[in-house]
Amino acid sequence: MYLKSIEVQGFKSFANKIKFEFHNGITGIVGPNGSGKSNVADAVRWVLGEQRVKQLRGGNMQDVIFSGTENRKPLSYASVAITLDNSDHKLPVDYEEVTVARKLYRSGESEYLINGRACRLKDVNELFYDTGIGKEGYSIIGQGQIDKILSGKPDERRELFDEAAGIVKFKRRKSMSVKK
Ligand code: ATP
Ligand code: MG
Repeated sequence: MYLKSIEVQGFKSFANKIKFEFHNGITGIVGPNGSGKSNVADAVRWVLGEQRVKQLRGGNMQDVIFSGTENRKPLSYASVAITLDNSDHKLPVDYEEVTVARKLYRSGESEYLINGRACRLKDVNELFYDTGIGKEGYSIIGQGQIDKILSGKPDERRELFDEAAGIVKFKRRKSMSVKK
């Protein structure tokens, strides 16, 4: 499984529709300060269901919508779609390729889609359990996060090992059935 592309439109500094395409191997994103490098990582976090605005470096969720520049009007929505190659079926679905998309309007209306089909945030979370990819996963290591892991509480650190060991879904299922 690997990330094939990230498509953004109206997300943060990306007013126009842009598609970043990746191939197997390492890709570096370089550019001057303030050119939008971190916004690319934010887009991935966001589409994976990030709800904490602080993690997205904003004051409220609508701050991810392109807010305009001197010569460009603000946009009314932000949209991000990532496509993953799933030919090894690490994601528990039959598709060879999985596209996860999220869209947010200024009105607050929002939607998630998996392969073009509307779904809940819960479905997106479940898709990525135990893959290390979800918003709580370790596939995006932000600045200062290593420190947090090293100095974190034992149960927070345990979550990371559970995810890597692939037992998160069983724990979630257990707590769901206990609740019922
Ligand atoms: P650095 O090298 O300093 O880390 P960077 O390339 O990571 O820089 P980002 O933090 O990704 O830069 O981008 C910051 C830019 O994104 C700022 O110019 C900011 O104005 C712009 N930006 C953030 N949110 C929005 C928004 N909602 N609408 C328009 N522009 C935005
Ligand atoms: Mg940055």
